[in-house]
Amino acid sequence: MTTPDNPIDGLPRLEDLGDLDGKRVLVRTDWNVPLDDGRIVDDLRITASRPTLQWLSDQGAQITVATHLGRPKGQVVPELSTTPLAERLQAMVPGAQMLENLRFDPGETANDPATVDRLTDGQDLYVNDAFGVSHRAHASVVGPPSRLPSAAGRLLFDEVEVLGGIRSRPRRPFVVALGGSKVSDKLGVIEALVGIADSLVIGGGMCFTFLAAQGHAIGSSLFEPDHLDACGELLASDATIHLPTDLVAMSADGKLFDPSVGGEVRQTGPDVPDGWAGFDIGPETAGTFADIIAEAGTVLWNGPMGAFEDPRFVAGTRTVAEAVAETHGYSVIGGGDSNAAIAQFGLRDSIDHASTGGGASLELLEFGDLPGLRALREAIHVR
Ligand code: AMP
Repeated sequence: MTTPDNPIDGLPRLEDLGDLDGKRVLVRTDWNVPLDDGRIVDDLRITASRPTLQWLSDQGAQITVATHLGRPKGQVVPELSTTPLAERLQAMVPGAQMLENLRFDPGETANDPATVDRLTDGQDLYVNDAFGVSHRAHASVVGPPSRLPSAAGRLLFDEVEVLGGIRSRPRRPFVVALGGSKVSDKLGVIEALVGIADSLVIGGGMCFTFLAAQGHAIGSSLFEPDHLDACGELLASDATIHLPTDLVAMSADGKLFDPSVGGEVRQTGPDVPDGWAGFDIGPETAGTFADIIAEAGTVLWNGPMGAFEDPRFVAGTRTVAEAVAETHGYSVIGGGDSNAAIAQFGLRDSIDHASTGGGASLELLEFGDLPGLRALREAIHVR
């Protein structure tokens, strides 16, 4: 198994599928959209598939779309039926078929060959347009390319082109801004990116394990002691890592630190006193991070700088989001929370590339390839 210099190399595209007139094409999409009482709250993932579906339809293909929705864990959960998605599909591409939620079948995540048989039965070709799940070796992602001529859809191709491009040839300086709750989720990608990026700025709950490794007091802030040494090693390396110099903290009067519980809020330096927990980067830090992002040739942002769902802790994420939107550099965001924050602040149109994959975008940057892409490269080709 070799990793290509750039993951786009050798990736078959729609044009490689040959004549599509009358051909039955199975299209794996990532239409795992947020639902509220069966209503689609945000349809970005659906509209993002339009270029692929429209092109296939224009070529005369008979389309079947397959997606997962939510976490039914191998059981039939009626509230997670794809029926509302089928209605949207009909409106977009009349006559296209929609399969039921892939994850109603435990064989999907287990990559069961019987599930692959069922999915590919009666199909002539396969298209993967589900970037958000291409880091998973699930039946509908890695199975069909071993049976059918296959290609990457427009959305998948575009994601790989952008992320593969910034991994191999970023316009410099390349600044990576990371946040979110867990350092354990992102240590791998941080370790991979310190060799590629010119600087990293780190906020969110994950900054406290780094601050602790520097010897700062962190009070009751989020902390992952098992990763203290790894954070310390990164800080001791040649990498340029910027951490918060001030924070917004909340006291919880001995209660569990849950922002919804409430407590007194105040600004602190990089040290958080006992009985307090940090929930956002402070204004000085947000300004420093924004200045670094403003000077970037490429900026990649993944993960909120604080508990941004709470208006008391949104300021740091807002300042960073505005800097990412305003920078003259090429801007890429990834992850559900960063996308939600950008949408909440009305900045979506100012981002050069909003990735539809959180985990997938980080894994592509970390490993330079994904199981779903590898499967496509190894697929039986038409020509
Ligand atoms: P993740 O799922 O790891 O990407 O983290 C996203 C979540 O991290 C969001 O729901 C934020 O509210 C939360 N978060 C960010 N910063 C903090 C913090 N300092 N303390 C607690 N939660 C945080």
